[in-house]
Amino acid sequence: MDKLNNYDLIIVGAGACGLALAASLNLNGKNKRVLLLESAEIPGCKLAKTGNGRCNLANATWDSSYYHSLSCLTAEEKERFWQEFTHGRKEAVLPQILKFWREHGVILTEKDKWLYPRHLSAKQIRDNLWQQVAANKVELQCNSRVTEITEKAGGYVLTTVIADNTNDDAEREKTIYTRYLVLAGGGLSQCDANAPAGLYRILQQNFQVACHEILPGLVQLQCKPNYLRLTGLKVAAACTLILPDNVQISKIGEVLFTKYGVSGIVSLILSNYFVKWRYDHNLLSPNKKASHTNCYDENIRQYLNIWEKKFIASNKAAGKNTASAKEKAYLLLDFCYDIAAADLSSLWQKIYSPQKSEAENLLTFTVGFLPTKLATVLVEQWLELQPFITKTTPDDYTDYLYFLRHWPLKLTGTLSLQEAQVSLGGVDLHEIDPRTLALKKAKNCYVGGEMLDLVGDCGGYNLMTAVWTAMKIAQDVIHKL
Ligand SMILES: Cc1cc2nc3c(=O)[nH]c(=O)nc-3n(C[C@H](O)[C@H](O)[C@H](O)COP(=O)(O)OP(=O)(O)OC[C@H]3O[C@@H](n4cnc5c(N)ncnc54)[C@H](O)[C@@H]3O)c2cc1C
Repeated sequence: MDKLNNYDLIIVGAGACGLALAASLNLNGKNKRVLLLESAEIPGCKLAKTGNGRCNLANATWDSSYYHSLSCLTAEEKERFWQEFTHGRKEAVLPQILKFWREHGVILTEKDKWLYPRHLSAKQIRDNLWQQVAANKVELQCNSRVTEITEKAGGYVLTTVIADNTNDDAEREKTIYTRYLVLAGGGLSQCDANAPAGLYRILQQNFQVACHEILPGLVQLQCKPNYLRLTGLKVAAACTLILPDNVQISKIGEVLFTKYGVSGIVSLILSNYFVKWRYDHNLLSPNKKASHTNCYDENIRQYLNIWEKKFIASNKAAGKNTASAKEKAYLLLDFCYDIAAADLSSLWQKIYSPQKSEAENLLTFTVGFLPTKLATVLVEQWLELQPFITKTTPDDYTDYLYFLRHWPLKLTGTLSLQEAQVSLGGVDLHEIDPRTLALKKAKNCYVGGEMLDLVGDCGGYNLMTAVWTAMKIAQDVIHKL
């Protein structure tokens, strides 16, 4: 092999993880060659669009319970994984990540536990790491996609395809040798999925490394019914995901109505649970937060039955078939979670008039705390449900209130990887040593960032993984070079 194509370390993927790793490699005058390969034209494309351009770098409430994985770890294995992944000091992860950013000249600011760079610019964060990479004398080659990797002489031979910008059709192939290798190709969401998918294929075929199917994570939910009239409307709600296995998960935040269903941070977070449930029906870490309960109350069950009956009746009328309610997942929205019962009651007393129609009374009441567009939909729906509900007195509004607190959207699916923020799945967690991120089946080869089957909720958890895995790999590999 030509000496020019010989490296001590190659990092595949100049995204959040690859850049953070190359930026941490202070080779201190060591005569070592390190190469960072990137398939895109410039590094850190995804990093530069994180947090809507504001870059939510970390979260002050970092904890393993914010992560999801498709790898089947037993409770014991999971405990060991997190112990080793955090060196037995879970509480030290956040301070060390904050130290990383401080040392790279970034001042952070906190908003409701979410940490952002003070300048609020994801592009500046990317550029900052990019400059440190150059300062560390790490060679960066963009437009270079790794298409093959084979083991040779204790190291690896990589085949890269180089897109030549001067001629659209020209693609040159090149082989490079390295003693150490880091795969940081990211997930398959919102990118040229061929590049990272190629790396998963190589791991599976050439190294027999188990990789899970890649599924959309932190992704918009598709619902039925979907309310075109509400498209674009944002409303604060407490959202509960109800899964058929009798599990419910609740989050509070803003919900955005879209033409296919709902979006917004809360629904993105809940999508991870929904997708995971759809994947294996096996569900959730046992120690998941207090808001996870394993028995939704009888009222909700009954209420969903009423809802189902209404659906079945209307579907029958339309000549459609409806599957059993038992197989359904729901999103229940509570539009009054932050209003005291006494305030709602006094509002009802004030506006109720026996002279007005029921629709008028309900609408006047609801527009007291919800946007008119939404209030109109809710009242119309409630009136349609009337044949299935028994009311004690004409001014009894308790059931309607229950409806406002448990407004159901039936979940039918999610949008695709193209719209998702991250991807669930990837390299099975059994395949790596969590202390170093080294692959067990391929010597001197590491996997970092989103390529791992470990995905976090919204809130900076995914960039934390990218940086944390980069720091750990750097610590391990630097002494070996
Ligand atoms: C719109 C959006 C907003 C987000 N906002 C946030 C946020 O605010 N906070 C947060 O924590 N997370 C956020 N995320 C998630 C976060 O960006 C990712 O989890 C993180 O970038 C993963 O880092 P990574 O280095 O593992 O992968 P990436 O950043 O995806 O980098 C992988 C790199 O490898 C390259 N590559 C892949 N295959 C090859 C190959 N075969 N050869 C050469 N190069 C290759 C890719 O081109 C890519 O540049 C967001 C994601 C999106 C899409």
